[in-house]
Amino acid sequence: MKISEIIARKKLILSFEIFPPKKDTGLESVFACADELCRCNPDFISVTYGAGGGTSDYTVEIASRIKENGTAPLAHLTCLSSTKEKVRSVIKAFKEKNIENILALRGDKPQNQDFTPPEDFHYASELIKEILAEGDFCIGGACYPEGHPESGNREKDLENLKKKVDAGCSFLTTQMIFDNTMLYSFISRARRIGIDIPIFAGIMPITNASQLRRMLDLSNAYLPPKFLALVDRFEKDQKAMEQAGIAYATDQIIDLITNGADGIHIYAMNKPKIVEKIVGNISSILEAVR
Ligand code: FAD
Repeated sequence: MKISEIIARKKLILSFEIFPPKKDTGLESVFACADELCRCNPDFISVTYGAGGGTSDYTVEIASRIKENGTAPLAHLTCLSSTKEKVRSVIKAFKEKNIENILALRGDKPQNQDFTPPEDFHYASELIKEILAEGDFCIGGACYPEGHPESGNREKDLENLKKKVDAGCSFLTTQMIFDNTMLYSFISRARRIGIDIPIFAGIMPITNASQLRRMLDLSNAYLPPKFLALVDRFEKDQKAMEQAGIAYATDQIIDLITNGADGIHIYAMNKPKIVEKIVGNISSILEAVR
């Protein structure tokens, strides 16, 4: 099912994100993770494409597995390091497997100095046009409440986001946030310039300190004092850190729902047990609002 159809009949969207394995040997465990997450009854599960060192090779297979479980998959696709030919071949594979939802992304600039991107694509908005020319897909885009790290100017970044939305996005998912006020201010600025599609809040449960350091390498997210104090206090005790991280994410989600969020997107980090605990903490709230 298209996510746009789900949005049309739901008051709150709940979604999770997983990533493909780094090696072929990990595929079965990602399938098991997807199966477990589907049992938490999300509206969709998204599968990354080559992010964080994972391969892009299994995005189609994992998205198909999610679909077989009766949950809508959202397959990510990046373009900056790809040729048009490669992008078209991946879109064709999505079509063959009846995957109807694509998160259209530019992708990060290659770290490898020896690799020069082919220049077929420069921005996600160009990928959106390409996808729409290839078929009838529901397309989402990424957004950055604290500004995309390369933009240096939040207002310019928002204008660029508007161009992306106008190219044909049905929804946006945010980079992870740890301070909800960042999101509330972003949403009001976005609405003021006519971005009126649903914006799903990206929540990353931090359950160990090394995960936090990796996350800080990837994003420029603001970490509020309350969150930093929690990490300081519990990072050396794995069980305590996990419990505190789950409680923090739960608290953030309850605040978002209270304030009328369009959707909650949990960066599941292939840890279904953590997601189960968070969803368990808010089960009655979800029942009341979905
Ligand atoms: P764009 O929307 O193209 O924006 C990139 C930059 O270009 C911004 O600074 C923007 O302001 C600027 N810009 C955009 N349009 C224009 C224009 N017309 N003129 C001038 N400037 C412009 N990466 C992966 O590799 N795989 C994944 O699966 C993945 N999943 C992600 C999921 C989410 C929810 C998020 C938030 C990010 C994800 N990323 C993933 C990371 C993403 O690829 C990077 O953040 C990337 O640097 C930007 O991608 P984008 O699609 O937001 O780019």
